[in-house]
Amino acid sequence: MVAEESKVENPASEQLAELVAEVAGCHKCPLAATRKKTVPGEGSPTAEIMFVGEGPGRDEDETGRPFVGRAGKFLDELIASLPMRREDVYIANIVKCRPPKNRDPERAEVDQCSDYLRQQIEIIDPLVIVPLGRHALGWFMPELRITQSNGKIFRNDNRVLMPLLHPSSGLRNPEHKRMLQEGIHNLKDAILEGIRLRNEIYERSRIPIEGQHEPTQNPLTADAEPETSEANSGSQSTVVEQAEAVALAETPPSDPTVNLFERPQTQDEIQAELKRQRAIEEAEEAAEDQAEKLVVDDRQASFF
Ligand code: SF4
Repeated sequence: MVAEESKVENPASEQLAELVAEVAGCHKCPLAATRKKTVPGEGSPTAEIMFVGEGPGRDEDETGRPFVGRAGKFLDELIASLPMRREDVYIANIVKCRPPKNRDPERAEVDQCSDYLRQQIEIIDPLVIVPLGRHALGWFMPELRITQSNGKIFRNDNRVLMPLLHPSSGLRNPEHKRMLQEGIHNLKDAILEGIRLRNEIYERSRIPIEGQHEPTQNPLTADAEPETSEANSGSQSTVVEQAEAVALAETPPSDPTVNLFERPQTQDEIQAELKRQRAIEEAEEAAEDQAEKLVVDDRQASFF
């Protein structure tokens, strides 16, 4: 319910809805003739993590939703292991219509369709993009090889990327499954890198970044009161909050009245900023407590 309300208030959701409608009526390439449904993407309009696959398969073509088959269920498991929820992230593909017989999309089809993905990235403005599989990685950084890049963190075109093997590869190959299960736990470091990059961009410009969504799930701009709603308990907000608290601690803004996203101008704003900083410190302490609890889980302990 809370998530639905925030969607309504967020202009990003309106922009995404317009894009979805445009994709639904798109006939720019031959894939329109054979698709059953377009698969534009789904998830939070304010997601800090965006997964990008190559294109829809049969199940996605039937439902109009990305990653809903066996590979999608495995992706859900990977996301849940962080811990995080599917609805906290955004999942999209490079091409929005299924290529017949699951063939690779042709270059012309990718060229025709990829502007939709560029728009989605611009609207959502995630901290981290996770290309899934070699084809998706090739669209972002063709010089990289997926098996060598799995779980590693890159900067590219003012974005942080953390490629992963395609989940379907993990279903076929036990070694790839292990690599995916380990690699996804590097997302916290990738989020940290995303925050550092955003901070650097801000420091370079010293003006708010045009088009950046209001980071309502972000403790750097959140209300001073820690969020306790069911919609925000656990999952991505915890991972992102921890990363942001660490980033704030290690790279404080040069001007103490300036945070990464906004500049307090009045005494009231400065007082609110101090209150917010205290809330961040409390959140950091809570994150440390949670990290200690997670030590019992080897996989999560290695992540934190
Ligand atoms: S694949 Fe993309 S460009 Fe081609 S018809 Fe579908 S939405 Fe349009």
